[in-house]
Amino acid sequence: MDTRTGLPVVGMVGGGQLARMTHQAAISLGQSLRVLAAGEHDSAGLVAGEVVYGHHTDLEALRAFARGVDVLTFDHEHVPGEHLLTLAVEGFVLRPGPESLAFAQNKLLMRERMAAHGFPGPAFAEVNDVGDALKFGEAHSWPVVLKAASGGYDGKGVWMLDSPEDAGALIPELLDAGTPLLVEAKVAMRRELSALVARSPFGQGAAWPVVETVQSDGINTEVLAPAPGLTAKQTHEAQELALRIAEELEVVGVLAVELFETDGGLLVNELAMRPHNSGHWTMDGCRTSQFEQHLRAVLDYPLGVTDLLSPTVMANVLGAPETPAMRPDERLHHLFARFPDARVHLYGKGERPGRKLGHVNLLGPLDDDLRRRARLAAHWLSHAEWLDGHQIH
Ligand code: ADP
Repeated sequence: MDTRTGLPVVGMVGGGQLARMTHQAAISLGQSLRVLAAGEHDSAGLVAGEVVYGHHTDLEALRAFARGVDVLTFDHEHVPGEHLLTLAVEGFVLRPGPESLAFAQNKLLMRERMAAHGFPGPAFAEVNDVGDALKFGEAHSWPVVLKAASGGYDGKGVWMLDSPEDAGALIPELLDAGTPLLVEAKVAMRRELSALVARSPFGQGAAWPVVETVQSDGINTEVLAPAPGLTAKQTHEAQELALRIAEELEVVGVLAVELFETDGGLLVNELAMRPHNSGHWTMDGCRTSQFEQHLRAVLDYPLGVTDLLSPTVMANVLGAPETPAMRPDERLHHLFARFPDARVHLYGKGERPGRKLGHVNLLGPLDDDLRRRARLAAHWLSHAEWLDGHQIH
């Protein structure tokens, strides 16, 4: 407990943008998020008052950090499972706990668990040699999707294999490097959705409106909230599915269930047990943001209402191939001059190609114009270039 405020202390392992925005929400709850940051320039380390430096793979650093907090939570899924278990055995409070987190850390474990409970997902198989993938390709037809069971993110660790030759060329090299692999049937999908929910230790659950996520090269670029054209029945089905998974896996905090919408219904793609890119729109478009909800859940407070305030488009600001000569503050200046209604969230990170530097939320009816403006705004912020040829002077 913080002796000054009398409030419990929440510690987040990882100092990225999710920790930064969780800290932002923590302030309103009287908290200051304590952050275990790996590097000096970590996004959350720059803004949180109580930053401890240490690496998330270093058990001693984790333990020392855990000693100073009432509850440990996570900005990413890269803490080794054995360290999580050790900390739990030593009596530290981890939310979500190690048994839950394992299914966000390992896609093969997750697929097996989903299948065991009858949650819908693509056909899959473990890959221990090329033969496993060839057999799977024959049975389910090519192309197939090869995935690293752990360690992947933003499409890194996902490979489309068009043929047995592709499998032969790629798999031995990955296995030699020690990458655990699985293969999945390539899903013919209409689009990708995300069902975001939260669950508290008390067992309360809350579901946000279901959103559509748009990706390019495996990276989420845009979120449409709520998902256009999704019927009330489909929405309910997706929310129900996500809440059941949260319950089944005893998740505490925010759970994002990434879904594929197919002609035959919804399939689970991936689970994330933390605030998620598909929930950034809730900062402006919802009564309770995913960051406040995550804190409420890990503190076992009653959860906040998740009603929509306004339909929202979220566009990610992704680093340009070459950092523009125009300084970021000048870009921001011009952005606000053109789009005074843009809700900008920047992460305070250095610019690098493709890096998530921030996001923009635009509220209003979900039409082409709103999407166009969100895309223009996000591209402008990282590229200093208006895609529609707009002249700034
Ligand atoms: P990451 O952990 O890097 O986000 P995902 O497993 O979510 O990886 O896969 C990244 C993207 O690859 C997905 O958003 C989807 O577009 C595509 N993808 C993944 N699995 C399949 C599949 N079985 N069939 C078709 N596309 C897939």
